[in-house]
Amino acid sequence: MNMVEVIARGAVRRAHDLPCPFCGADPPLAAKIAGRFVVGCENDDCAANPQVSGSSLTETWEKWNRRAARGS
Ligand SMILES: [Zn+2]
Repeated sequence: MNMVEVIARGAVRRAHDLPCPFCGADPPLAAKIAGRFVVGCENDDCAANPQVSGSSLTETWEKWNRRAARGS
């Protein structure tokens, strides 16, 4: 099972979170992978497919939003 499949199966969408700063895909997807929570862009056309990870889902979304707001 590759990363994309895991994210699609474990998807938790949160409409109020920020879109990808690179491609504008909205919203990104969250998944729990190997005990870590990962939020990332799932868009096949995205040049960067940024991801963040954390020990809780809330922490991970907060990291995503900080990154998305910074635009890098
Ligand atoms: Zn993207």
